[in-house]
Amino acid sequence: MNTTQFSDLDFKADIKNNLLANLESLGYHKMTDIQAKSLPYILKNQDVIAQAKTGSGKTAAFGLGLLSKLKVKEYKIQALVLCPTRELAEQVAQEIRRLARFTHNVKLLTLCGGQAFAPQRDSLAHGAHIIVGTPGRIQDHLNKRTLNLTKIHTLVLDEADRMLDMGFYDDMMNIISYIPKQHQTMLFSATFLDSIVKMSASIQKKPINIHVESLHNDSEIEQRFYEVTPPHLKIDALKMLLAHYQPESSLIFCNTKVQCQEIARQLKGNGTFALAIHGDLEQKERNQVLLRFANKSCSVLVATDVAARGLDIDNIQIVINYDLSPDVHIHRIGRTGRAGKKGTALSLYTTHERHKIELIEKIQNQMCHYDLLDSLEDKGIATPPLMITLCIHAGKKNKMRPGDILGAFTGELGIIGTQVGKINIFDFSSYVALNRKIANKVFKHVQNINIKGRNFKISTL
Ligand code: ADP
Ligand code: MG
Repeated sequence: MNTTQFSDLDFKADIKNNLLANLESLGYHKMTDIQAKSLPYILKNQDVIAQAKTGSGKTAAFGLGLLSKLKVKEYKIQALVLCPTRELAEQVAQEIRRLARFTHNVKLLTLCGGQAFAPQRDSLAHGAHIIVGTPGRIQDHLNKRTLNLTKIHTLVLDEADRMLDMGFYDDMMNIISYIPKQHQTMLFSATFLDSIVKMSASIQKKPINIHVESLHNDSEIEQRFYEVTPPHLKIDALKMLLAHYQPESSLIFCNTKVQCQEIARQLKGNGTFALAIHGDLEQKERNQVLLRFANKSCSVLVATDVAARGLDIDNIQIVINYDLSPDVHIHRIGRTGRAGKKGTALSLYTTHERHKIELIEKIQNQMCHYDLLDSLEDKGIATPPLMITLCIHAGKKNKMRPGDILGAFTGELGIIGTQVGKINIFDFSSYVALNRKIANKVFKHVQNINIKGRNFKISTL
């Protein structure tokens, strides 16, 4: 089938109209490449093994597949999606929930580590249709007999290569042994290395192989390569790039967590608002870093590949490769230039790394454009981020809602609504992005805020 219309797909008649209307309401007017190539097979209940770049809409490909088969009246777990990290699992869960809005009462549970076990066990006891989770925790539930997978008809391994990298092979195979033989397996992976092909051979039946060209077209992402030669150090070159381009948001990739911390430290020392994200952060720190990046109160994020993988951060203006990594180059630069926006990817390399440039040229099937560090205009240091994050020590459990916070800021404190940015509310705390200039004026002396007649402590993050 050669169509990009969702309406041409073979959804069951009783759900088709509502499902299509919901896709329209989500702004999904056409299928993405990977969806157009995979959904016809997925809806025929065939096994698929698929590869496509980040941001290409893989979640909806498998999400629509599993939802179209779901028997909502049968209150049993019918679909299982395994993801490598909690973050990814939460993103996938969120997307499936949006896709499921066409029908009532679909119950989805996320089961990930780093969260209390007992509430998960209790939710499971109440029943669910779809489980999204990480292999470790799902395995825990299986061991404790709190999860029953005997009615599963769809299994999804999302970012399967990453799960293998993380040592989840045995967990995955063990989990699969609890699933009835007759089921559909969809395997998504950024790479088709031997280990993935082998795994597919052992768990899939005549899988349809789907590959979407991962080359970025030149008009979306502008790339430049800078050679760093003595007396310059890479860290100086990085500062020069940030000062020249003055990005509102930038993601800097490096290879190790130590390096990641060191770069962030050096940038901070230079007056740049940079934060590091790597595998060793605790969940809470990690969430705070992501939140600050997403709400524009941190403009420079330094990340390892592992930590950045799968993060759904839109609108990254500039990606900077502090080291060249041909294997993941296309993946890294794919974080910018999304959704039809123009992106910029800058790469630093030393003379020793020159051979990697050739590899990258081969992989992207395109020559690299070079630029000279000396040609960069020095505009001092990178501009500070637009916003600042304030933390209010009350959250959902205190019945805090975004409107209450906005109301207190615009009412009691007289701040104009447009100066208030993203508001994120968690169980026991809430975060508000506020224009930096206003925040510096208003919150120098204010340490409490009155919301709905109660006083709450405020601090800056
Ligand atoms: P991947 O898993 O391939 O990295 P995602 O499934 O996270 O990509 O999708 C990336 C973004 O594209 C999400 O914000 C999603 O809502 C959006 N998206 C998916 N399918 C479509 C579509 N057909 N039309 C418009 N946007 C879409
Ligand atoms: Mg994905």
